[in-house]
Amino acid sequence: MKTGQEIISEDIFRRIGLAADRIQMESYVVGGFVRDSILGRPCKDIDVVCIGSGIALAEEVAREFDLPDHSVSIFKNFGTAMLKVDDWDLEFVGARKESYQRDSRKPLVMEGTLEDDQNRRDFTINAMAVQLNQSNWGKLLDPFNGIADLKSKIIRTPLEPGITFSDDPLRMMRAVRFASQLGFDIYPETFEALQKENERLEIISMERISEELNKIILCQKPSYGFLLLDACGLLARIFPEFVKLKGVDTEEGKGHKDNFYHTLQVLDNISQHTNDLWWRWAAILHDIAKPQTKRFVKGKGWTFHGHEEMGARQVPSIFKRLKLPLNEKMKLVQKLVRLHLRPIALSKEEITHSALRRLLFEAGDELEALMTLCRADITSKNGDKVKRYLRNFDLVEEKLKEVEASDSLRNFQPVITGEMIMQVFDIGPGKEIGLIKIAVREAILEGSIRNDFESGWPLMIKEGEVLGLSPVFTLPEFLKSIS
Ligand code: ATP
Ligand code: MG
Repeated sequence: MKTGQEIISEDIFRRIGLAADRIQMESYVVGGFVRDSILGRPCKDIDVVCIGSGIALAEEVAREFDLPDHSVSIFKNFGTAMLKVDDWDLEFVGARKESYQRDSRKPLVMEGTLEDDQNRRDFTINAMAVQLNQSNWGKLLDPFNGIADLKSKIIRTPLEPGITFSDDPLRMMRAVRFASQLGFDIYPETFEALQKENERLEIISMERISEELNKIILCQKPSYGFLLLDACGLLARIFPEFVKLKGVDTEEGKGHKDNFYHTLQVLDNISQHTNDLWWRWAAILHDIAKPQTKRFVKGKGWTFHGHEEMGARQVPSIFKRLKLPLNEKMKLVQKLVRLHLRPIALSKEEITHSALRRLLFEAGDELEALMTLCRADITSKNGDKVKRYLRNFDLVEEKLKEVEASDSLRNFQPVITGEMIMQVFDIGPGKEIGLIKIAVREAILEGSIRNDFESGWPLMIKEGEVLGLSPVFTLPEFLKSIS
C-alpha cells in the first residue's frame, strides 16, 4: 500500500506545498486523486482543500508556476478556483461544512475544519486527504478508514448512509457508478439505504443522473452497474422502459428469452468491441419495444414482429426524457435499432444483390456499427450455434464488400436529382419530382439500372411521360447546358 508521501511524489505537489507554506495555509490533496493513486489508476485531476481561501491559494500557486493571474478561473459563489498546470487540472477550495434542506441538493455552506470537510464527502474511499505543507509533508488523514475499504473493495458512506443519500441523492448514482468503475461491492447498510432512499432521486436533474448513467455504461462490464441499479430500485425510477424487458411468458409449454438479461449480455458483448457510448446505447435500446410487440402465435411460438421499427420510433422520446442529446447521435442509435435485424435476415436467406445494396444504402457510414451490434446480439449458450451465426455474418460482410466495391454504393446519391428533373421537364416543385426520384432510386437498388446518367436518363424520361410530362432537353443538350 502506498504511503502518503508516495501518493504526493509528483513534483507538482511539492510546489503547491511551497506556495501554501508561503501564505501559511494548511493544504491537502483530497478525494479522487488520493483514491486513484492508491489504486494505481492514472488521474490528472487534483482537488486541493485548504483551511482558508481556495482562491488565494490558487493565485499563489499560479505565481509559483509563473503563470499570469488570469490563468486562474475563479468561481466566487462556490469559493473555488481552478488552474491548469501542464496537463494537470487543479481545483482549490476552502474546507467547508454543509447543511442541507429537504428540497434541494444545494447545501448551505459555511467555513469549516478539515474534519468537517471530510465528513461531507460521499464515500470513505473519497474522503482521504494527504497534507502538502512542509511541516507535515505526506501525512495521510483517513478518518473513516478508506484504506481498508479500498483493500476490501467496498463502497461505504462515511456517516449514516440514509442521511448522506437523502441530503444529496446524486450520491446514490455515484455509489453505483464507483462500484461499477472500480469493480467494488456496496456495503450492506449503504445498499439498504439506496433501496430506502431511491425516491429522493426526484430532486436531481435528469442531466446529472444521465451523466452518471453514461459513466456506468462506459464501464468495462456495464451489466454490473445495471444490475445494481435494478436491485436497489433506481433503475425503475430512471429508466422504466428498460425494466419492462424483464420476465418470461410461457404458452403451450414454450417460453421466450428474458429480454432484460439478454439485452445486458448484448451490452457487455458490444462493450468488448467498442468504447463508443452511442453504439452501447444502441445495444441497450435494440429490443426496447419487445414488450409491446410480443405475441404468441399458436403452433408457431413467440414473435416480436416489428419491434425494431417500433423501438426506433421510441428512441427520440427516451432520449428526450433522459436528457440525452437530440442530435445526430440520437439518429445513429435510431438507425441501428431500426436495422438491427437486417443482417440476420440476410444471413438466413439466399443473399440477393438487391438486398445487399439496400442494406448498404440504408446503413451508410453506420455499417460497421451495425455489424458490431449484430454480432453482439448473438447470446445463444450453444457454442456451435454461435459459431455458425458468426460465420454467416462473415459471409454477409464479405458480400457487402463485394457489392460496395463494384457499385460504390455506400452513401450513394442517385445522379438524377430533383433539381435536374425540374430543369429537364421545365416544372416547379411538386409531387412528380419525388415520384420520379423514387423510381430511379429503386431501379438502382434493384440493380436493373446503373447509377449513371446514361442509365438514369431514359428511366427518368419514361417515368415523366407516365406522369404526363415532356422533356425540353435531350441528354446531349442537357449535358451541354450544365457543363
Ligand atoms: P471522478 O473524477 O472519477 O468522477 P472523483 O472522486 O474525483 O471521481 P469528483 O466528482 O471529481 O469525483 O469529485 C471530487 C471529490 O469531491 C470526490 O472524491 C468526493 O470526495 C467529493 N464529492 C464529489 N461529489 C460529491 C457529492 N455529491 N457528495 C459528496 N462528496 C462529493
Ligand atoms: Mg475528479
